[in-house]
Amino acid sequence: MNQINQVPGRGDYDVIIVGAGFAGVYALHRLRGLGYRCHVIDAADGPGGTWFWNRYPGAACDIESLEYSYSFSEELQQEWSWSQRFARQPEILAYINHVVDRFDLRKDMQFSARVVSALFDETSDLWTVTTDGGQSRTARFCIMATGCLSAPKANEFPGLDSFKGEIYHTAYWPKETVDFSGKRVGVIGTGSSAIQSIPLIAAQAKTLTVFQRTPNFSVPAGNGPLDPEVEADVKRNYRDLRRRERNSVQGIDLGATPETRTAMGVSVAERQAEYEKRWSTGALYFYTSFVDILVDEEANNTVAEFARGKIRAKVDDPAVAELLCPKDYPFGTKRVCADTNYFETFNLPHVHLVDVKTNPISSITETGLETNANSYDLDVIVFATGFDAMTGAMLNIDTRGRDGINLRDSWSAGPRTYLGLMVSGFPNLFITTGPGSPSVTYNMVLGNEFHVEWISDAIEHLRREVISTIEATPEAEAEWVAHVNEVGNATLYPKANSWYLGANVPGKPRMIMPYLGGFPEYKRRCTQAVARHYEGFQLGGPQAVPLMEAAE
Ligand code: NAP
Repeated sequence: MNQINQVPGRGDYDVIIVGAGFAGVYALHRLRGLGYRCHVIDAADGPGGTWFWNRYPGAACDIESLEYSYSFSEELQQEWSWSQRFARQPEILAYINHVVDRFDLRKDMQFSARVVSALFDETSDLWTVTTDGGQSRTARFCIMATGCLSAPKANEFPGLDSFKGEIYHTAYWPKETVDFSGKRVGVIGTGSSAIQSIPLIAAQAKTLTVFQRTPNFSVPAGNGPLDPEVEADVKRNYRDLRRRERNSVQGIDLGATPETRTAMGVSVAERQAEYEKRWSTGALYFYTSFVDILVDEEANNTVAEFARGKIRAKVDDPAVAELLCPKDYPFGTKRVCADTNYFETFNLPHVHLVDVKTNPISSITETGLETNANSYDLDVIVFATGFDAMTGAMLNIDTRGRDGINLRDSWSAGPRTYLGLMVSGFPNLFITTGPGSPSVTYNMVLGNEFHVEWISDAIEHLRREVISTIEATPEAEAEWVAHVNEVGNATLYPKANSWYLGANVPGKPRMIMPYLGGFPEYKRRCTQAVARHYEGFQLGGPQAVPLMEAAE
């Protein structure tokens, strides 16, 4: 257990960071480097966040490794070598562990401890953070680096406990290898996690039955060994690449460049050629294939039809192909997947596709599962049913701010933040890649870096000015929420029942959660708020006990 360096009035720590994923690891490095006493708490038994838990077969990133990595240290960028163009989960986890050890961060991290509550005390301006083990720590600041895709969606099927076979969930896959040989396996879900794991499970299983509610668009991952020449070139010019990423909507730059033309403003042949080029480049490049893809239904339908054509060309049985073709939401409004032989897997004789939109799963039974139409005998059920995204992990913590106000009440009609960074009534509580920020629509590593730097600058500002607290004003928060909704509603995103809107979780308020105005505009607004003396934030009174005497 970490030793507590208690300073009366300053709390056990200056900053408690909840979560040891990409955000928490960098927050610790950055803030400790500035002289703050920091403590990271994570439920897992090691760092990695989402990359710690999602160990399912085939788990990989669909942003190029050279881009989906920290940019804060030039030495780190130069010394680390990725083996694959798109890193697989074990390599990303090894990378995060390398960063933790390289910067000697582990000594300030507490693992196997789940934060259950965070309570603000107005008399001391301290947060008390308590874990499931009953340990409470106090700190002036609390950073919720809890991640967007870290709270798996709760089971929705009756009878789960009765199942006599093996049960797995892609989002908390065991460390031990799972052997599907000779087994009748069922996979529930056809999102990114399912689409990556299904071909590998099919390669082992005796039979594989895929229970699909909504088909997804998926683009070939195009993974392979990282070309040493590409790596050398990037490493020679990393600074320029990072600058371009930070000025881009998605935080990626190595593939196709964003188009400035509209899909409907070019000929059919030009459009097809552009899609074909992007088909072999990567899933995320379709979002920027033409400027109107995500705002104009006619334009969107051209790329949707292109992607459906690819499915029909790959799947032998026309009925199965049609079932696999997404038709009731626009392309890109559910996260486009990246796969290796996903659609081709349905040509294998032992792989079956079951439509559970028409006949929903009604229960899990002792021997498998039942839909409204049939029963299926299974030895293994894999849940690839997704996450209570963007708010689930934060709301699992009993978080109370001024006057005991509960975050669950503040967000009962959907998450409300200012710039995705702070919530009014919750002083000194920061969020990384929170709802209301570009978050999942931007390279998560760079988005987290941006937030950690913004937050540490704010903390430094308070220290220099000897101010006790910072919090979003209710007015700025209301304006920002309205802006996020207005921008989101001008796109096609609301037309899908996606996790971006919370529509995948029964009872969750439907609200567009990521900020869709693009990262450059978002960054401009965050920087402008600071330049205008933290416009939209209320700064509290003088610190009763100054932060960081040692660093003065
Ligand atoms: P997901 O995209 O939310 O997919 C969950 C799947 O389970 C969907 O097909 C969903 O159907 C189905 N499902 C959920 N509840 C169901 C029910 N009651 N009955 C039947 N089907 C049900 O979750 P995910 O695949 O874990 O991916 C989440 C996100 O993580 C991705 O969108 C992506 O951002 C990220 N991710 C990225 C990568 C990558 O980089 N390549 C890999 C994995 C994950 P509906 O669509 O009908 O709800």
